[in-house]
Amino acid sequence: MIKEIKVKTALSPSQLPGLDYALNPYRGCAHACVYCYAPSVIHRDKGKWGELVEVKINLPRILSKELRAKKKGVVGLGTVTDPYQPAEKRYELSRRCLELLLMHDLPVCIQTKSSLVLRDIDLLKEFSNIEVGITLTALDDRVRGKMEPGASSVDERLRALSELRKNGIKTWVFLGPIMPHITDVDALVDAIAAVKPDYVLVDRLRLKEGVWENVRGFIQEFMPELVNEYERIFQGSGEYYGEVFEKVMGRCKKNGLRCEINSLCWCRSIQSLMQSDMIIFD
Ligand code: SF4
Repeated sequence: MIKEIKVKTALSPSQLPGLDYALNPYRGCAHACVYCYAPSVIHRDKGKWGELVEVKINLPRILSKELRAKKKGVVGLGTVTDPYQPAEKRYELSRRCLELLLMHDLPVCIQTKSSLVLRDIDLLKEFSNIEVGITLTALDDRVRGKMEPGASSVDERLRALSELRKNGIKTWVFLGPIMPHITDVDALVDAIAAVKPDYVLVDRLRLKEGVWENVRGFIQEFMPELVNEYERIFQGSGEYYGEVFEKVMGRCKKNGLRCEINSLCWCRSIQSLMQSDMIIFD
């Protein structure tokens, strides 16, 4: 269900290292990923995650006003929602916000699971500093369809990475969350290497409030043979991820890919640039 709402603010200070501001054109996300922890971050209690998407219809107008007064900083577009989820096709809020950010030449970091981002290549190409991250969690699209039912297929995402790169836009892959015994790590890293992103961030499953219940329900429904193993891993000491991260790093190295373990930092290149180039704009 789509509901149009009006908001009073656009940019909010970001808690994520590497970002100064978070900009979320939607509240809720139709991609409905089983492991999503956004509901716990936005303290949402409005039914099943994915079923209601609130569209901030006045966001560009509010953003335009705020941009006249805020300090320059890195903007994360889509920190608790996907800025290119299906509603964006109709509402074009992310596009209109990008037009405004471009006018002020703000550094922008986007993270999405949708190939709809390709629609905005014309704008993305104009930024001095922009990075587009695309998330991948599995190579098998049947598995992806169960975990991230509303998002683009694996092939569409790989093609999007390739197109963005061909257009000179910096890209990165968020390889995560790695789902134990589901994420096909070696094959996925090889497929990512073929589209040559600038870097890869790998991440574990983060069991914030409510996530374990969703993931457990998902495993119980689709892969009941993994229930005991998941309980063992997530009640354990994190040993599992140490080994998997090593495997991913090794496979990336073999493929000539820069890879880092996520410490909730976004957009590595923009981050270092901003450290040496903080400008106030009016
Ligand atoms: S795309 Fe991101 S915000 Fe949307 S449901 Fe998936 S994890 Fe949550």
